[in-house]
Amino acid sequence: MTKRFCLDLDMEDIRSWCEERSFPSYRADQLFKWLSSGVIDLDEMTNIPKDMRSKLKEDFLFENGMKIEHRFVSSIDGTVKLVFGMSDGHIIETVIMRYKQGLSICISSQAGCRMGCTFCASAHAGFGRNLTGGEMLGQVLLSQRFMNERIRSVVVMGIGEPFDNYDNLMRFIRLVTSEEGNNLGARHITVSTCGLVPKMKEFTALKSQVNLSVSLHAPNDELRKKLMPVANRYSLKELIEACDEYVKATNRRITFEYSLFKGVNDDEKSARELYRLLRGIHCHVNLIAANEFPGSPYKRSSREHIESFRQLMEKYKINATLRREMGTDIMAACGQLRRGLEQ
Ligand code: SF4
Repeated sequence: MTKRFCLDLDMEDIRSWCEERSFPSYRADQLFKWLSSGVIDLDEMTNIPKDMRSKLKEDFLFENGMKIEHRFVSSIDGTVKLVFGMSDGHIIETVIMRYKQGLSICISSQAGCRMGCTFCASAHAGFGRNLTGGEMLGQVLLSQRFMNERIRSVVVMGIGEPFDNYDNLMRFIRLVTSEEGNNLGARHITVSTCGLVPKMKEFTALKSQVNLSVSLHAPNDELRKKLMPVANRYSLKELIEACDEYVKATNRRITFEYSLFKGVNDDEKSARELYRLLRGIHCHVNLIAANEFPGSPYKRSSREHIESFRQLMEKYKINATLRREMGTDIMAACGQLRRGLEQ
């Protein structure tokens, strides 16, 4: 049986492990404190007795579960990209950005992705496996330790489709919001999906305060099918209905991501279609200057096109902003670096 990664353990798991192994319960508190502060190397846990450390090592993965393999710091805006090597050789990326409100982190939910979006570097690099909740938590805790600063918000928008790894995502949310652990408020978490409608509905039914963001990228089914194979499974009508349900059930605004591709979805007709699709929904549209990567069939829209698209949104009274690009010198966009490293 494969060993569980230490950060997959919650307080209860650790308490019952200590009980089974006849270690006093205060040892569970000590261990949990180390783990919650991002220390996963048993040798650093100096107040844990040696015999307990060696038993822990027998049962779980610690520092060999995930490690920072590479770090890149943008000389433009200080954005940090960490590349983690996992116990089985998979590579994942995490990006840490500094905003006025503090540090925000973009984490990966899978090693690779099987959604196949034609514009995405992660899709081109193929699918490895799902990440566990603890491996998602590890990105937050190890980054926090690396930065020596608390992370204020988490977006699950890196490599992978989080709703394609639903149970582990839910486990991660429970772990990262746990009061005795990292204690991050649910409102400070955003999950981004390409639109797996049944899972969106399941998520809505939880009525959690976690934010939902939907990668839209096209204002009609025909174009969306070309960009995102998931559109062959769920029509825009079904997707938008699921978004509306989320807004009504949670009273929260929903975000739509819309990358602008030159000559593909950045003209006035597309802006009008987008308006017709979204009018009446309590939403925000993030316009994104599309990422280009070698082999991508798409080019990013020109600055002028992006700006005139934004102005059209304003004219149509759709709440839209252009997402600030960060870490452009360190390939901070989703999947770019993993692809480069694995080639
Ligand atoms: S855009 Fe997101 S869902 Fe689509 S292939 Fe890339 S990582 Fe997967």
